[in-house]
Amino acid sequence: MRTASHAADVAIAGAGLAGVAVAIEALDRGRRVVLVDRDVEDTLGGQAKDSFGGLWFAGSPLQRRRGIPDSTELGFSDWLAFGELQASDAWPRAWARAYVERCVPEVHDWLVALGIRFMPVPMWVERGLYAPGNSVPRFHLVWGTGRALAERVVGRLLGHPRRSLLTLRFGHRVDALVTRAGRVSGLRGVTEPGGEPFEIECESVVVAAGGINGDIERVRRHWHADWSVPPRVILNGSHRFADGRLHDAAAAAGASVTHLDWQWNYAAGIRHWRPRKPDHGLSLIPPKSALWLNARGERIGPMPLVSGFDTHELVARICREPGGYSWQLLNRKIALKELAVSGAEFNPAIRDGKRVRFARELLFGNRWLYDELTRNSEDIVLAATLPELVERMNALNGDGVVQLAAVEDAVSRYDAAIRRGPRFHDDEQLRRIDWLRRWPGDRVRTCAFQPILDRRAGPLMAIREFVISRKSMGGIQTDLECRALGANGRVIEGLFAAGEAAGFGGGGMNGKRGLEGTFLGGCILSGRIAGRNA
Ligand SMILES: Cc1cc2nc3c(=O)[nH]c(=O)nc-3n(C[C@H](O)[C@H](O)[C@H](O)COP(=O)(O)OP(=O)(O)OC[C@H]3O[C@@H](n4cnc5c(N)ncnc54)[C@H](O)[C@@H]3O)c2cc1C
Repeated sequence: MRTASHAADVAIAGAGLAGVAVAIEALDRGRRVVLVDRDVEDTLGGQAKDSFGGLWFAGSPLQRRRGIPDSTELGFSDWLAFGELQASDAWPRAWARAYVERCVPEVHDWLVALGIRFMPVPMWVERGLYAPGNSVPRFHLVWGTGRALAERVVGRLLGHPRRSLLTLRFGHRVDALVTRAGRVSGLRGVTEPGGEPFEIECESVVVAAGGINGDIERVRRHWHADWSVPPRVILNGSHRFADGRLHDAAAAAGASVTHLDWQWNYAAGIRHWRPRKPDHGLSLIPPKSALWLNARGERIGPMPLVSGFDTHELVARICREPGGYSWQLLNRKIALKELAVSGAEFNPAIRDGKRVRFARELLFGNRWLYDELTRNSEDIVLAATLPELVERMNALNGDGVVQLAAVEDAVSRYDAAIRRGPRFHDDEQLRRIDWLRRWPGDRVRTCAFQPILDRRAGPLMAIREFVISRKSMGGIQTDLECRALGANGRVIEGLFAAGEAAGFGGGGMNGKRGLEGTFLGGCILSGRIAGRNA
């Protein structure tokens, strides 16, 4: 079979948010660009299109308007503490500093210039548990979710005044990097479907092909030591082609691939009922007022699990429980106010800019989502009483391990603590709910000490939740110009990396925990830098 060949100045493998940002900057500089992706044309923009659209900024105009006292110094110190970045992590630390210092001018202001608007109140996520997290609210959610973000950035690319210098190739799987005279000088692969070989010759190659978390076997292989052993079920919440193929290709060309165990996986995955890949999962934003139970129905403790503080720790705790999965126990009232799914697909009011619908959902609860989840999810059971609920939980699993006595004990102790009144709240979950509700962004989404057994709040609901893979925070090591680095910091000539493929910069700029919103932001910053330098 004849090999199709093409020549360009810059060849980019991966047309997600990072690859698109690379292409825009390269076109700005008058370079001839080929953007190659394994997926279909509709998916231009990659995972960002399905994402929630939250971005991390410290010292933004919105924070100032809301009276949030933030600064790059505070942001950087939170970042280092939360990610546990050590002095030996030189490139990740350099990238962390670069992101904190440059995210407002180079990501926020750039997006605003493209027409992006943010929700009026930043959200306060990853507040930290045993180590400091975000000291203040920093998660800036795009009006329109990641869908609007991706559409604006892709729109900028497709409407670029130098569009004629851009070639797009979809259905092209890159398998290898071509090296000549000690320099990376091209890409090689096959079309899908068809299997026809192709080769692209160029001056610079940028790997922007996402992470490894779409390949669950790789996720298991690089499981973080804090999480003990990988559970039997891990759902897939990443891109179907995020398989690390080009991490291997970069390594074969001499690049260092670092910290693949720094992964951002979530604790509360349920199975998607319209799967687009094997074990496709949805990541729930776990209700804070729900009781978190293990497979036997015992409340996980003594420190109870509450989301919004330390996602890495939630995963670690669940992996240590029998079966490596969990249940959340709640009722309809809690679900209406607090249950949410991360991403564009299940947030139509924000995604489609429906302000009235959004306000109604905040005030009266998200009935659409409640109906959608309870009608379709195989991982959710409802019942009027605890004995019936436990029967259905056991029927769902088919193993009878959930103990009614354990569930009754957990619920009665928790409800009794609530009924004693806020002055006597000796339960850590209630203390945290109290703190969460002091920030308006959380107050509107968190019930005020809602008992589980409450006739007016039913029916009862139990959600079976599995660990779900999401982001690779490690990857191809890069310097501050996005040049790939090999052993002893040697620059691999001609090779650049950006976005999740590069651990969002430096092969792991977040460290082992991410403050959230640093991923989309990291794709834009590293993509823009790579595009300028490639
Ligand atoms: C539901 C969801 C919600 C999220 N919410 C947020 C959020 O609110 N905030 C945040 O910061 N982050 C969020 N993220 C994470 C964020 O979306 C991703 O980290 C980011 O979009 C990754 O962009 P990327 O360009 O690096 O990679 P990707 O978007 O994965 O794009 C990589 C591209 O490379 C292509 N590719 C892969 N291998 C090959 C190959 N061998 N040859 C050719 N092409 C290849 C793929 O087809 C893909 O198009 C979310 C993710 C999901 C799934």
